[in-house]
Amino acid sequence: MNKLAKIELSGGCSETPILKERGQREVFCGLTSIIWLHRKMQDAFFLVVGSRTCAHLLQSAAGVMIFAEPRFGTAILEEKDLAGMADAHEELDREVAKLLSRRTDIKQLFLVGSCPSEVIKLDLSRAAERLTKIYAPKVRVLNYSGSGIETTFTQGEDACLASMVPVLGQTNDEQLLLVGALPDVVEDQLTSILKKFGIQRIKTLPATEKDKIPLIGKNTRFALVQPFLGETAEALEGVGLNRISAPFPFGEQGTTEWLRAIAIEFNVGESLFNEVISAPRARAQKAIKAAAKKLSGKTVFFFPDSQLEIPLARFLVNECGMKAIEVGAPYVHKSIIGPDLTLLPHGPTISEGQDVDLQLERCREAKPDITVCGLGLANPLEGEGLTTKWAIELVFTPVHGYEQAGDLASLFSRPIRRREVLQL
Ligand code: SF4
Repeated sequence: MNKLAKIELSGGCSETPILKERGQREVFCGLTSIIWLHRKMQDAFFLVVGSRTCAHLLQSAAGVMIFAEPRFGTAILEEKDLAGMADAHEELDREVAKLLSRRTDIKQLFLVGSCPSEVIKLDLSRAAERLTKIYAPKVRVLNYSGSGIETTFTQGEDACLASMVPVLGQTNDEQLLLVGALPDVVEDQLTSILKKFGIQRIKTLPATEKDKIPLIGKNTRFALVQPFLGETAEALEGVGLNRISAPFPFGEQGTTEWLRAIAIEFNVGESLFNEVISAPRARAQKAIKAAAKKLSGKTVFFFPDSQLEIPLARFLVNECGMKAIEVGAPYVHKSIIGPDLTLLPHGPTISEGQDVDLQLERCREAKPDITVCGLGLANPLEGEGLTTKWAIELVFTPVHGYEQAGDLASLFSRPIRRREVLQL
């Protein structure tokens, strides 16, 4: 059996000096992650302990969900001095009791912290412990922060998953753990390929239900599916799990290299590997080729937002023929994003953090063909004649894996096409 060869992980942008900026930033807070997490974890409820602003953010971000019985809500804490904190705990307990008696389908309850000072003063981990004792084993209560002071919008998922790690049960079984919330259809596609490699035990975090939450142990190796899960990765490594380092599965190249890194860990032979991936890989190449016609030769500028920026720039440059001018990310964890940096050809400015006015100046001067940024910046930039793509859409849309590679390229080509039509 020929062994699979590891890819060379040096060069590209891995040695590029990072422009670090610490100024005003324009991003959503971690509460936003609840929108996709509650869809994935079907017996979980996210109770935001927060203000009316938090309730408004959730309602508007969730859109149509308010017509269904939602699996998230806001316990609004009115202004309290320190002497009132005991009451605040009692108030929270009452809210939880009301919720759990009405909603017997809830098996996991997340208390999600937010920005107001009254909430920061409230010890939610103590509240979660106390409530777990009351409602165990039927309901498990955990807590994390989605506060805009501490988290950007994708970090909410990271904080949520990291909060689950300490309570995961133990197993010695050899298994692969995929970490990060993917739409079910994408998760099924990726696990189906991995099973064809002969990897039998594949678990996911988060799981769809409490009863399917994975057990972990020293024979569990894990692979991240999202680049923004640094705290979760650290927590899993902290309890002795080995992380499989790889580029992220965006586009044909990213998916192939992500699969290759896992296959090497599980001793999959070269011929089986190539046989399994050849058809979906060819489909991805064909779909990208069609969608990339509009992108080839065009320039792209990324503002820091989702933490997907570096893998996406790698995809757009290597597979769609684009030229990246600046790739900004809220954080650049080289231990996690390093493989993607090595595959991104030398050239763009790599920036970390934000000083929004300075970055806007650089963007205006560069006049990119497409600018990837948050909602707050997109409208003014469109008004100035730039073509934009909302970064948040890239998190809400299925974009991982071979079968979504063409759609991923289309997400960028569509705004360019729209601008051309408007200019005709
Ligand atoms: Fe709530 Fe803070 Fe997010 Fe505003 S930024 S919605 S106050 S958590």
